[in-house]
Amino acid sequence: MSQRTSLAGLDDYTADGAESFDVLENLVSSLPITKSEQQQIITQLHNAKRYLKIGFSLNLSLQSNVSSHCVDFALSDSNPKSDFYINCNHHHNNDCENCENLVATLTQITELIRTSSNPKKDEWEYDCTASINKIYEWQKHLVRHFVQSKSKNDILNNLKPDAAFWLRDWSMKILPMEYREKASSWFGKRGMSQEVDVFWTPSGKTTSDGQQILQKYVYVTMLDQSSQDMHAVGAVADQVL
Ligand SMILES: [Zn+2]
Ligand SMILES: [Zn+2]
Repeated sequence: MSQRTSLAGLDDYTADGAESFDVLENLVSSLPITKSEQQQIITQLHNAKRYLKIGFSLNLSLQSNVSSHCVDFALSDSNPKSDFYINCNHHHNNDCENCENLVATLTQITELIRTSSNPKKDEWEYDCTASINKIYEWQKHLVRHFVQSKSKNDILNNLKPDAAFWLRDWSMKILPMEYREKASSWFGKRGMSQEVDVFWTPSGKTTSDGQQILQKYVYVTMLDQSSQDMHAVGAVADQVL
């Protein structure tokens, strides 16, 4: 049975990262190792992919004693004199089995190709390096996304009574889409565009535990044949405001 999960509109990092696991799986199936060795690595790849999809983000924390989960550590400048340096006031003395599986599996595949004498070695190396880079870009994207979501929640939790938080983005285009289409193959396509503008403002009411209740206003603007450029973005903003 085919999986009909719609991935349309996925950001490029997620789509490229997920696709790269498939490329590596194909590569492993061609490697001159035994079938059971191939199967073992493919299982590791499946576990790593599933972990990046659903587990890794949940493990992230501004401060963690697992280095790969410590967001401050990940985003800090390595130069202690930099303004963007964050000093972790804890030790990174715990390990994460899943993060280790990811790194170990990617290293294992790289090594198997490096030591191979197959005529296709150069081609394999190229695909392998490109795929691994995309997988790590996906992981970095998840770290940045964690911080952005946190910032958004902090802003929403501290909105002044006369302020509003405005979030805007293009939503799906109304046209038939390829299965697993990603954002870059989608921008600039002709079709009906839909922009969504969301405003959050304090409603003046609070919950029983003192949290302010926000009012949400959603505006949907449909544009016929828009290339989603800055003129279109400006025009929609003008209309919404
Ligand atoms: Zn840390
Ligand atoms: Zn982990």
